[in-house]
Amino acid sequence: MRKRLPCSSIPIRATPDETGPMTIGIVGGGQLGRMMALAGYPLGLDFLFLDRAADMPAAQVAPMLVGEFTDRKLLRELARRSEVITFDWENVSIESLRTLGRSASIAPPLAALAMSQDRIAEKKLFDTLGIPTTRYAAVESQASLVRALRDVGLPGVLKTRRLGYDGKGQAVVRNLEEAWLAFERLRGSPLIYEEFITFDDEVSIIGARSRRGEIAVYPLNRNLHREGILRLTRAPWGAPALQRRATTHLKRVLEHFRYEGVLNIEFFVRNGRLIANETAPRVHNSGHWTIEGAATSQFENHLRAILGLPLGATTARGHAAMINLIGRMPSRDTFIGESELHWHDYGKTARAGRKLGHITLLADTVARRDARAKHLLRRIDPTSARSL
Ligand code: AMP
Repeated sequence: MRKRLPCSSIPIRATPDETGPMTIGIVGGGQLGRMMALAGYPLGLDFLFLDRAADMPAAQVAPMLVGEFTDRKLLRELARRSEVITFDWENVSIESLRTLGRSASIAPPLAALAMSQDRIAEKKLFDTLGIPTTRYAAVESQASLVRALRDVGLPGVLKTRRLGYDGKGQAVVRNLEEAWLAFERLRGSPLIYEEFITFDDEVSIIGARSRRGEIAVYPLNRNLHREGILRLTRAPWGAPALQRRATTHLKRVLEHFRYEGVLNIEFFVRNGRLIANETAPRVHNSGHWTIEGAATSQFENHLRAILGLPLGATTARGHAAMINLIGRMPSRDTFIGESELHWHDYGKTARAGRKLGHITLLADTVARRDARAKHLLRRIDPTSARSL
């Protein structure tokens, strides 16, 4: 017999010819998908992934369809075998997914994915929803670069509008010469020029909206990046007023799309003000601490949200710090004996700049958490530890 979802008022697409556990189809088989599957098994869910390579982190925990994200045959197979299709990566082909039509239940909504694929659309949405963001201008040509430099000013950041992640496809520009060099390097793709924000902090907020319209928001994350890559997240962080404002902004985006799933917004904090940088319509690296550090993890809440199940509590269990393990895995046995330290290895081949795993540590006070995080970061990533 097919399993029935308790309490869901929204009918889930029925596939009466199939029996057994409900399958979630995930486009993208990276570590985010893998952690989603690991969170979903206790709920009695099964998973099927689609990705371009067979050796992705998710392939170690679930079956995988191997092929291009644009492969309509494979997408159709994924839809046929899944209750709902979701993503661990936002840069998927919206056009190919649209061809699935009503035969597939897809969450989050494709409109939210499309917005987050284009930094200009994202900024426009922030403007529309009254969420403060950086000044910006679209850059398609030398003439528009000149206009952007004049209107937005120096210093700034030139970024590709699409397919940028972990600081890839962007350059900080301090003078005209750097602007031309960056333009030469990045031209060929549509670009955006943003003002450079001298921030006091970077934070992100993660929340889920379910198919039933329920919303649950996690405490704010304080993020440390180096070379555009997240190195350390500490949560909860920030005064209640900041949390309230970030929550309001997040809810506006969630409601705008009648969103289903987990969404993240990153902000710069300057003089106590939030300036939105970007969204991610998926579970996010800055929310990994929620696996051990919150009552319900972001991964589980994403699954609950897309299935119309009641959302789990987002309350923090003490004070968490998450350190990314990048480029090289440290020796596991040196660390895992330490109390309240949680080790995550994504099963990837080591490569410079690649996220291979993470550590989460929990403490009962902010001071203890911060002291331990600093000590640990010094051992793992001394360069980043210097900016703490
Ligand atoms: P992004 O790919 O937009 O998330 O950028 C990666 C990181 O680069 C951010 O987390 C910031 O640390 C930095 N960054 C990006 N845009 C700006 C900006 N406009 N001003 C200052 N720093 C930025």
